[in-house]
Amino acid sequence: MILEKIDQLLNEVNNLKANNAEEIEQLRLKYLSKKGEITALMADFRNVAADQKKAVGMKINELKQLALQKINELKEQNEVAEESADDFDLTRSAYPIQLGTRHPLNIVKNQIIDIFQRMGFTLAEGPEIDDDLHVFTKLNFAADHPARDMQDTFFISQHPNDVTKNILLRSHTSNDQSRIMEHQKPPIRVICPGRVFRNEAISARAHCFFHQLEGLYVDKNVSFTDLKQVLLTFARELFGPDTKIRLRPSYFPFTEPSAEMDISCHICGGKGCGFCKHTGWVEILGCGMVDPNVLEACGINSKVYTGYAFGLGIERITNLKYRVADLRMFSENDTRFLDEFVAAE
Ligand SMILES: [Zn+2]
Repeated sequence: MILEKIDQLLNEVNNLKANNAEEIEQLRLKYLSKKGEITALMADFRNVAADQKKAVGMKINELKQLALQKINELKEQNEVAEESADDFDLTRSAYPIQLGTRHPLNIVKNQIIDIFQRMGFTLAEGPEIDDDLHVFTKLNFAADHPARDMQDTFFISQHPNDVTKNILLRSHTSNDQSRIMEHQKPPIRVICPGRVFRNEAISARAHCFFHQLEGLYVDKNVSFTDLKQVLLTFARELFGPDTKIRLRPSYFPFTEPSAEMDISCHICGGKGCGFCKHTGWVEILGCGMVDPNVLEACGINSKVYTGYAFGLGIERITNLKYRVADLRMFSENDTRFLDEFVAAE
């Protein structure tokens, strides 16, 4: 009698089916709960003859294991089915694709690189951590130049007897110039974009790190006229064909003569506005002929070769193109700001 009941249950359990988690739970209650059919068999088990108890007990055990296994299988199948149903839910509403954005500084940097590459400049990058020798000494900085002061430059280590061995965060990309001239013979025509560091209080108009792009051309017979023409072409490519430039005499340790270049204000078209302080002109870069001392310090014969160099701030040009009012926006990674550049080049 009990064996027939067990066989019947074995048959049932072998063919269990369920469509959802609720039905599976019903099956579990029916067979495995305290009031379930398999538990009920235990009551009958007491009446089984002693010589059959072992065989019947094993069979009940087999039934119980099978029921557990079947119900677990149904649970797993149900989970898989629910997951794949999610993947193919055609009733779900569509949501817009989130486009990634390039950082505005990278957008502008890439535009600048593109312009100079089309004029035959190659691209190089130098170290952000460098020694005094390459950042200052070879570039003709006087021993007591204020850039060597802790007030202006972040030092990593200072050598007690030899300042040229000081290790520091570069305060300009011009260390790339000295490193390139050391290893490469003219003609050299290269641009070097990179990050630079200065010991400044962070505000809307100053930051402790920013980005520069350095340009260097060294060859025979390179003249100031060449420099001026390259910079005019650059300004017109970047800001439009009507852009005017003007050069004002200036001073840098590593160029002689030196100049600062203004462009006609991109925002007011030269009429005068708040951005250009009502002058119609905006300063965008420093430049000049490479000082013969620098050429010699880097192993280039200054009687044979001449060269020009220029350096520009990428933040400054980005401000001019996109009118970013606060320098800190560039490094805060606020997506509301970055999202304004979606789908820009
Ligand atoms: Zn203006």
